[in-house]
Amino acid sequence: MIVLQIEKLKEQIKNWKKEGLTVGLVPTMGALHAGHKSLIDKSVEKCDRTVVSVFVNPIQFCPGEDLDKYPRTLEADSELCKNAGVDIVFAPSPKEMYGEGYILSNDFLTYVIPPYFYVNKLCGKSRVGHFDGVCTVVNKLFNIVQPDYAFFGEKDAQQLIIIKKMVKDLNIPVEIVPCPIVREQSGLALSSRNKYLSSEQKEQALVLSKILFNIKTCYDNGIKDVEALKDTAFSFLNEHHDLEYLEFRDENTLEEKTTADNNTRVFIAVKIGDVRLIDNILLK
Ligand code: AMP
Repeated sequence: MIVLQIEKLKEQIKNWKKEGLTVGLVPTMGALHAGHKSLIDKSVEKCDRTVVSVFVNPIQFCPGEDLDKYPRTLEADSELCKNAGVDIVFAPSPKEMYGEGYILSNDFLTYVIPPYFYVNKLCGKSRVGHFDGVCTVVNKLFNIVQPDYAFFGEKDAQQLIIIKKMVKDLNIPVEIVPCPIVREQSGLALSSRNKYLSSEQKEQALVLSKILFNIKTCYDNGIKDVEALKDTAFSFLNEHHDLEYLEFRDENTLEEKTTADNNTRVFIAVKIGDVRLIDNILLK
C-alpha cells in the first residue's frame, strides 16, 4: 500500500503497535534495485511489519547536485515492494515532509547536525551540509514510523556510522541493522546513480571495486602500511577517472589510519564524467 500522508501512516503504525507487532523501516530515495531489496528482505524477515520510505530528500542535496534529475520510479518501486512483502511504501512530497511553503534553510527549519569530526571528511568534505539533511530526514522518519529496527546499507558507510552516532547521542529507541554491499557480478556496487552511466562509463566505473579488491588482497598478503596500500591504486586509474578520495579510516570512529588493521575501512570516491561514485571495503 502506498501512503502519502504522515498522519495516515502514523495511524497505521499506532494500530500495529497496539497489536504488539514489531516494525522495520527501510529509508530510501527510490529507484529501487537489488541493493535496496536486500535491506527490504532483511526487514521482512526480522520484523512483523515493514515500511519502506521513498523520498528524494531535497535538503540533503547541495547546490548544483542532481536533485532535479534524480531518477523517480515510484510505480516500479511499489511493485518491487509489494512482491517483497512490504506492508507500506511511504512516499511523501517535500511539502508533506517539510510543511506548506517550506524554505529549506536552517533559518526556517529545525535541523539535526551531526558532529563536525564525522562530517568534515570523505563525502562530507565536498558535500557540505549533506549529512545535516540526512540526519534531519532520518530523525523525522524515526519519529513518524517509530521503528524497532532500521536498515541501512554499508554502501554508504559514512552515512551509516553517522546515523549510529546520532542514535546513540540522542538516545533514539531504534536498533540500526547494517547490511552488506550488493554488487553486480562485475564488482560494481549497485547504486541508483549507475543509471546515469553510459556503457563505456560503466566499464570505467569498475575501477572503484578493482582498487578496493586489490587493496584487500595486498592487505591479506601482509601489506599493512597505508601509504604502500594506497600506492597500489594508481596503476588502475586513467584520464577518465577523477579520484576524489582514497582513505583508510577506523570502521567506527572514522579516525585516519597509517597502519591498516581489521577495523580499517577503505573509502573511495571517483568522478567519471559528471557522475560521482562511491564504494568501500572493510579489511578483515
Ligand atoms: P538510497 O536510496 O541511495 O538513499 O539508499 C537507501 C539505502 O539503501 C541506504 O541505506 C543505502 O546504503 C542502501 N543501499 C544502496 N545501494 C546499496 C547496495 N549496493 N548494497 C547495499 N545497500 C545499498
